[in-house]
Amino acid sequence: MGTTLDTIVNVIGGGIPGGKKLKAVQCGGPSGGCIPASHAEVPVDYEGLKQYGAMMGSGGMVVMDEDTCMVDVADYFLRFTELESCGKCPPCRIGTKKMRGLLKKITEGKGEESDIERLEKLAITIQKGSLCALAGPVPNPC
Ligand code: SF4
Repeated sequence: MGTTLDTIVNVIGGGIPGGKKLKAVQCGGPSGGCIPASHAEVPVDYEGLKQYGAMMGSGGMVVMDEDTCMVDVADYFLRFTELESCGKCPPCRIGTKKMRGLLKKITEGKGEESDIERLEKLAITIQKGSLCALAGPVPNPC
C-alpha cells in the first residue's frame, strides 16, 4: 500500500516486455478503471486510485503497453458486466449491450463524434437507473 504504480510496473514487475512504453494500468478488477501512464506516479491505495476513477476493488492490475487499444479494453470489461447482469433492470440489461455496440462500431473505424456523447449518456443512465452495485461502476473502464 502506498507504492507507486510506476514502481510496481517497472521495478517490482520488471518493466514492459520488448522495451515498449506503458500505456495504462487497469486497477481494481472488472469494475475498476484505467490509469494512464501519465499518472503512474500515483500511490496505490484507496484514495490514490480513486482520484483517477479506479479502485482497489479485488486488487487486480492489468498492465497495458503502447499497442493496446483502450476501446477494446473498455469492451472487454463491459462484456463482464453484460454476462453477469441478472437482467432485472433495463438500464443494466440493455444499456451495457448498447454501449458495447457503440464500442464495436468505434473499433471498426465507423465511430462518429456523437458516439462519445451517447456512451456518456448511457453510462450515466446505467449508473443512476440500476438497482445493484454491479452496474454502478460500469463506466469506469470506459
Ligand atoms: S443492476 Fe443488478 S439487479 Fe439490475 S439488472 Fe444489473 S445485475 Fe440485475
